[in-house]
Amino acid sequence: MTVLVPTMGALHKGHQALIKRARELDKEVVVSIFVNPLQFTEAADLEKYPRTPEADIQIATLAGATEVWFPTYEEIYPNEPVQISAGPIGELYEGASRPGHFAGVLTVVNRLFEIVKPKAAVFGEKDFQQLWLIKNHFKKMEIISVPTIREFDGLALSSRNVRLTESDRNAALIISKALKEPARMAEILATEPEFKLDYADIIDEQNFQIATDATKNKRAIIAGWVNGIRLLDNAVVDTNS
Ligand code: AMP
Repeated sequence: MTVLVPTMGALHKGHQALIKRARELDKEVVVSIFVNPLQFTEAADLEKYPRTPEADIQIATLAGATEVWFPTYEEIYPNEPVQISAGPIGELYEGASRPGHFAGVLTVVNRLFEIVKPKAAVFGEKDFQQLWLIKNHFKKMEIISVPTIREFDGLALSSRNVRLTESDRNAALIISKALKEPARMAEILATEPEFKLDYADIIDEQNFQIATDATKNKRAIIAGWVNGIRLLDNAVVDTNS
């Protein structure tokens, strides 16, 4: 039995943390690297998605992967894919900005599970809504999550970060700064003119509805763009704040 770590490549320390976690669970760790067209809603984003296969093999192997698998489109979708609905939560937040995105995610994850037949799979909290939907849909699979890995200054690692210029990167820091002060999130984000807000909310982790005073597990979620590059991040909110 193996543990699967699904990725889209351009691997970084965030992915490495997932692979290390997988390796703690089993001595066989398959890292899949597949840029899934079904989950992209913009052709330009798909086209510009970074692809670094040689470095990926090294990074994955160093972290403990026993197999780095680059499936072809035909392997994943030998027939016209029947997309798995992500339900109402899949329409909120990321799903509202990227219609069909989560159906594409669930569809590819389902195919990866069918092919690899892992005993468990590891995903990052960085994509919190994705993690939630995967846990909710694949109830029989053991889904393990890993906290978000950040740069020294707070920026969440992301494959898309390589597209940020130095000044874009500075602007992007407003996201992790805002997450540290959830009560003032919108105000803080508004101080950065280069950051174009999509959403910034404190939600109930149970159901993605806006958190109330009674909410036990709150999470701050933020997404937006810097120079056209979509960035997202999230953090647990102390229940007392
Ligand atoms: P991606 O290659 O961006 O599709 O991501 C593959 C997996 O790595 C997903 O489960 C992500 O949530 C996870 N991931 C991406 N960035 C990070 C990060 N900074 N820290 C932890 N996990 C991450």
